[in-house]
Amino acid sequence: MNSFYIKTNRVFTPIRKYGWIFTLLVAIGGLWYPKLGLLVLPVMLTLTILSFFKGRYWCGNFCPHGSLFDSLLGPVSRNKKIPKFFKSKVFGTMFLAFFMFNMIRKILKVSALYGTMLFWDKLGFIFVASYLMVTVVGGILSLLITQRTWCNFCPMGMMQMLSYKLGKLIRANKRTDQKITVASKDMCHTCGKCSRVCPMQLTPYLEFTDENQFNSEKCLRCSTCVVNCPAGILSLNTEKKARAVIEETNPEGYENRQKIKAKIIEVLDLNDEVKQYTFQLINPKKVDYKAGQFILVKIQEEPKMFRAYSISSYHASGTELSITVKKDPKGYGTDIMFNRFKVEDVIELEGPMGTELVIDKLAEKVVFVAGGIGITPFLPMVREVLDDENKKVTLIYGVNKENEFLYHDELKELDLQSDRLAFKQVVAFDDNWKGRKGFVTDILKEMNLDGHKVYLCGPKPMIQPTVKQLVKQGVKKDDIRYESA
Ligand SMILES: Cc1cc2nc3c(=O)[nH]c(=O)nc-3n(C[C@H](O)[C@H](O)[C@H](O)COP(=O)(O)OP(=O)(O)OC[C@H]3O[C@@H](n4cnc5c(N)ncnc54)[C@H](O)[C@@H]3O)c2cc1C
Ligand code: SF4
Ligand code: SF4
Repeated sequence: MNSFYIKTNRVFTPIRKYGWIFTLLVAIGGLWYPKLGLLVLPVMLTLTILSFFKGRYWCGNFCPHGSLFDSLLGPVSRNKKIPKFFKSKVFGTMFLAFFMFNMIRKILKVSALYGTMLFWDKLGFIFVASYLMVTVVGGILSLLITQRTWCNFCPMGMMQMLSYKLGKLIRANKRTDQKITVASKDMCHTCGKCSRVCPMQLTPYLEFTDENQFNSEKCLRCSTCVVNCPAGILSLNTEKKARAVIEETNPEGYENRQKIKAKIIEVLDLNDEVKQYTFQLINPKKVDYKAGQFILVKIQEEPKMFRAYSISSYHASGTELSITVKKDPKGYGTDIMFNRFKVEDVIELEGPMGTELVIDKLAEKVVFVAGGIGITPFLPMVREVLDDENKKVTLIYGVNKENEFLYHDELKELDLQSDRLAFKQVVAFDDNWKGRKGFVTDILKEMNLDGHKVYLCGPKPMIQPTVKQLVKQGVKKDDIRYESA
């Protein structure tokens, strides 16, 4: 089974990346020069005040230990599930009480030396020792479990949560408190990626409030989930700004999303790494669908999680649909689908949904650009264009190796049948391929794209240069629509 938690872009600002230097300076340097420990006092003061207004923002953005765990130890961490014990409130509170008791006891003992040369060294060493303890214990947990295991019961984190609670109680942080906000719950793919990349292993997507915000006091406001959400619907915002984001979001194309029970009636191996699954809808028996839309497929119940797949073919009766899935070598969901999904299984679907690739009714000249598995939405889209006698379409299909082409015969056949379809294939890295070599952008460069609407689907590394190329050729941004598979 592939790993559930993903180590991915932790959004490294310079402070997050190099903050660990401060940790080592105090924890190691302090062994020789104990006064360095006194630097921890302004840190403690700042984090307590900041958390009153912004929750654990410090932990996700400025904490030197956090930087050590994420930046230095993260890449070699085993990235396992954090045991419930470390996450429990009881353990966190007991650990805070123990830590504070010890700290106060030591400070009282050292205070007897006040006025002597030794006082500042002894006081500093109290903080050096605690910094070193966090570095060693937190570091070990970081390596053995996951990088932010310590942060679940860190006394400074607990102190911030108390200070934040106070801010909330007296309603002093309403304008400053930024929380993870979802622009529209209907647009969420329920893919769980926000949870899988979360350094605290929280589950924002299962806990959005009626105000579309994630209220967890443990949230570090690190924005890792924001940059990794495939639907691009997350942001870090105050309650007021969240309301504005929700109002500005147009959930068109998602309003008909519905839960569907469906039976797998066929599993076809298209090649070693691609399977086509055909579902018969059970309840409801029929759904409305627009070519270019996608559907969510439930891959597991606990925690609830779906994967998005473009509908690659749709039965005219509206009672059957197919998706085409490429196995991701590191993928969690495709691992489950390839190994467990079989004919006769009843699976939960949600959708159909999405607007990006739904063809503009008024467009007469359209270009479809597909990269690899990104061909899937274009199969029904080509048919839809060909059903409208006013429309002409060019389909450019690029892959890395010839054997990656899917539905080749079907598309060739359509190409032969209609002079309103121009089907162009291009292969990037295959010496045995006799046809056009290169990238989809090479073909676009040769085309006059005046008055065309362009629809793209493929991996991110294909989308960005292609959009750039299209804009260079004078295609308006509004006439370019894309989805990254
Ligand atoms: C609108 C839409 C339509 C789509 N249509 C299709 C389609 O028609 N066909 C299709 O095949 N796919 C499609 N996809 C993609 C699909 O939803 C899944 O993302 C894809 O199948 C991979 O799922 P997975 O759970 O196997 O991968 P995941 O486990 O989610 O992994 C995805 C990627 O995350 C990274 N990753 C995962 N685990 C780790 C780890 N432990 N360490 C480091 N990196 C890691 C890897 O880069 C991996 O490639 C579509 C996506 C969207 C948003
Ligand atoms: S929920 Fe998002 S912002 Fe909060 S800790 Fe997790 S990844 Fe960071
Ligand atoms: S990452 Fe997935 S589950 Fe989380 S908000 Fe985005 S679309 Fe929804």
